[in-house]
Amino acid sequence: MALTGIQIYKLLPKTNCKECGYVTCMAFAMKLATGQEELSKCPYASEEAKKQLQAASKPPMRLVTVGVGGRQIKVGGELVMYRHDKKFFNPPALVVRIKDTAPQEEIGKTAEEVSNYNVERIGITFRFDGIAIQNDSGDPSTFANCAELVRSKTDMPLILLATDPASMSAALDKVNEYKPAIYAATKDNINDMVELAKKFVCPLAVRSSQGLAELAELSERAAKAGVGDIILDTGDRSFHDSLLSFTQVRRLALMKKFEPFGYPIISFPGEGASSIDEEAILAGQHIVKYSSIIVLDHFSPAIAYSLLTLRLNIYTDPQVPLSVEERIYEIGKPSEESPILFTSNWALTYLILSSAIEATNIPTFLCVKSVGEEADVLCWCHHCLRSAQLGKLNADDTGQFIKKCGIEDRVKHRKLVIPGRAARFKAELEQALPDWEIVVGPEEPTRIMGFLPEFAEKLKKLSGNLDFGSEGDLNSKGSG
Ligand code: SF4
Repeated sequence: MALTGIQIYKLLPKTNCKECGYVTCMAFAMKLATGQEELSKCPYASEEAKKQLQAASKPPMRLVTVGVGGRQIKVGGELVMYRHDKKFFNPPALVVRIKDTAPQEEIGKTAEEVSNYNVERIGITFRFDGIAIQNDSGDPSTFANCAELVRSKTDMPLILLATDPASMSAALDKVNEYKPAIYAATKDNINDMVELAKKFVCPLAVRSSQGLAELAELSERAAKAGVGDIILDTGDRSFHDSLLSFTQVRRLALMKKFEPFGYPIISFPGEGASSIDEEAILAGQHIVKYSSIIVLDHFSPAIAYSLLTLRLNIYTDPQVPLSVEERIYEIGKPSEESPILFTSNWALTYLILSSAIEATNIPTFLCVKSVGEEADVLCWCHHCLRSAQLGKLNADDTGQFIKKCGIEDRVKHRKLVIPGRAARFKAELEQALPDWEIVVGPEEPTRIMGFLPEFAEKLKKLSGNLDFGSEGDLNSKGSG
């Protein structure tokens, strides 16, 4: 049983030495109670306290894994009700339902379409997460064959939807090695479903049709019988009811440490909607509050993009600026004569700048450097000027990055374009990169469209002798 903040406080040294980073032992105890801190930060906790506090450090919501390999679904493991309290950790899985009564060709096509969907956005690849296969036929062999067919088309995790234990067993015989989730144990079949979950070591969803009291009872029974990974279905489908019950489950799990609800929630927005559009809106509600696996009845790239964008926004850390990976990005298919632009890894800058470069149709290398909390340094927007004035620009780090990132092996020339607003650091950068010429680009990303074609043309013309002409020429139109 988890401990309250007061109970944890009684086990701490109560010296208020502040070494854990908190002003008092009480403040630290309160953070431990909510799972936002680890006991290891207190160097003076006794062995006895550590033993007793194990329960307190147990996450209030279990992290549940569905599937195997690189495309596993990992959901749950959340610590807070509100994103601004800390952050949300594991984005909800977006899953598409396929019925085993659909024509085989359609089943295969849908599985492939969902599996292959991917969109690159601000350096992040958007993808869907899984396929749910429904035993609509009621026939065990039809269900099992459908599961096998879907699995042959995708390596995405599977969720098997059947209430008949015979059908579930038949499908698990075919695909159990991929660790699908079993959906669902109800009050009528829970014993059989628990046995299947234990036999095949798969996560088990429990579904209530009569409210949260029954859901708690089913969850407790499954846990006591030895099922570790449990998923909760409150049975509520409408906008109002699902919002209410999901919030109650989350609150009881995280704030009251009510163990039967300490698991991720699964939802089915298509069952509470009267159109595809309504399903998408309800799925959006479930992303925000508080579903962990969202099973859609329809797949459309346009709706997928909107939901994945919403998910990205909700599941980013509100205290950390959204950033992209530090590396060389290729826009188009750049060659050894292509321009090289440099910027920081602030995601918005990357997005705006890469879009502007794409619009020029000029293949370009974009060298993106991570600048940590100084993510606004050396980017192509008004922040650069502020950062420069604040003296955050570090020419040595930038020089080291250019030398080590591998761009020198990719091009013949040594011309590096930096943001116009970072012009005052040109001399410092040239000192840090003595083999390079630092070219000052435009101040605003939109002006890249005027600057880059002219710059690329000069690179091309001069690639024979590698004399690129004067920087003034190159910057005369672009630097604004
Ligand atoms: S380090 Fe331990 S003893 Fe010191 S204030 Fe924190 S909880 Fe108390």
